[in-house]
Amino acid sequence: KGSAQQHSKQLCWSAGVPDVSERTLIAVKPDGVQRRLVGQIIQRFEQRGFKLVGLKMLQVSEDLLSQHYCQLRQKPFYPSLLQYMTSGPVVVMVWEGLNVVQTSRAMVGHTNPAEAQAGTVRGDFSFHVSRNVVHASDSLEGAQREIQLWFQGNELLNWVCCDQTSTYE
Ligand code: ADP
Repeated sequence: KGSAQQHSKQLCWSAGVPDVSERTLIAVKPDGVQRRLVGQIIQRFEQRGFKLVGLKMLQVSEDLLSQHYCQLRQKPFYPSLLQYMTSGPVVVMVWEGLNVVQTSRAMVGHTNPAEAQAGTVRGDFSFHVSRNVVHASDSLEGAQREIQLWFQGNELLNWVCCDQTSTYE
């Protein structure tokens, strides 16, 4: 009994430890870069308390995009999506923190900006689904897949945020 109790305590304990190292991929799409929204988008994630662990600007290849959007290949808008996403540079980032995948999706808002709430990135900066300013991974698995696709391991930094005790218990 003793060991079962200890085991369940351990489970409780490990379930109670927040996964502050969860990561997600956020990209400012070409329209966001053209419209000089990069700073404002970064600011929202910084001020929410998330930690930036990777950042770069690049002209995306069709090859990378076809992997990134592999689930959308059959969609009628796929060709114009590729054209849009390769029309100019993209700024791609990895943000880290508790529940960052889910919270980022809420911060970014509905895929269709017409349905996105005010206060979300898409709700504040866009009104059409074909120009929705930003990408955010939609699940933990998706985030892991996308981070591996867009970043080399050595482009992501493990660093300690000096205010960590102010953002987590
Ligand atoms: P999200 O980016 O919110 O995860 P999806 O994965 O469904 O949404 O779609 C990927 C991207 O494809 C969208 O962000 C948007 O740029 C584009 N897209 C989605 N639906 C449409 C559509 N009906 N018409 C044009 N572009 C679309």
